[in-house]
Amino acid sequence: MRIITDEHCAGYSRIGHPERPLRILASLELLRHQSELPIDWAKPTQAGDDQMLRAHSPEHLARLDEAEDFDPDTPYYEDIGKYARGSVAAALDALAAARAGQNVFSLMRPPGHHAKRDQAMGFCYLNNIAIAVLEAAATGAKRVAVYDFDVHHGNGTEAILLNRPGIAFYSIHQFPCYPGTGEANVGRNCFNYPVAPEVPRETYRAALARAFEDLKKFQPDLVAVSAGFDAYARDPLAQSPLVLDDFYWLGQSLRALGVPLFSVLEGGYSRDLPELILAYLKGVEGK
Ligand SMILES: [Zn+2]
Repeated sequence: MRIITDEHCAGYSRIGHPERPLRILASLELLRHQSELPIDWAKPTQAGDDQMLRAHSPEHLARLDEAEDFDPDTPYYEDIGKYARGSVAAALDALAAARAGQNVFSLMRPPGHHAKRDQAMGFCYLNNIAIAVLEAAATGAKRVAVYDFDVHHGNGTEAILLNRPGIAFYSIHQFPCYPGTGEANVGRNCFNYPVAPEVPRETYRAALARAFEDLKKFQPDLVAVSAGFDAYARDPLAQSPLVLDDFYWLGQSLRALGVPLFSVLEGGYSRDLPELILAYLKGVEGK
């Protein structure tokens, strides 16, 4: 398993904000000190403006350098543009590793799936997964599927990828919940699987499985995964029921698709995030 990460992404924080440095630092600690899953560590390289501009406007890239909060959830931090570009670079490197036949995970912050073409929101500044998918499509991938299992709807990814030929988006999420979208399918290529709060685990698993069945029918040659771990029962930001084994099952199910696959970290705010990531990666690796 290749993990693309850089401890420097822990360098920004605001007291009390759930998207905190410890998410990455504690995950690194666990992953470095376990022996079940051999890891090949890599640092992100660099993302080009041309790659980011497929998903975002030039005004949005410039706005990241203006010292003003985007919204109460999404503060301005010094150098946030640099941090956001680091996450994008890691997602692009993950794409390249998947194409080279590796199992790969981008362990970075900030997350990306709420970021829209012109708007940072929901702890997200640049849409890492959408940028990587548009790069894939621009460089030869014919059919790319995004599987987004973060408990929140990937509204930014949906808005950016809407009706793009050769791309399909599948989001399984709690509804109602932040950001309030994702109740129904949108356009020709965005498929939403809303699940009510506080449902039994079997109900949530059935929605995840249904999305897999639909994704298979699309017959992708590449799968990009927005891996959020906040549908976990003990996550403080949602009311969904998944347990550790479900994240292992998600990894296994993605592996079973038998196509090149890369995953990038989105949300996940419980203290158990490191264990959930490890379980997922073991599933992806077939351990
Ligand atoms: Zn989330």
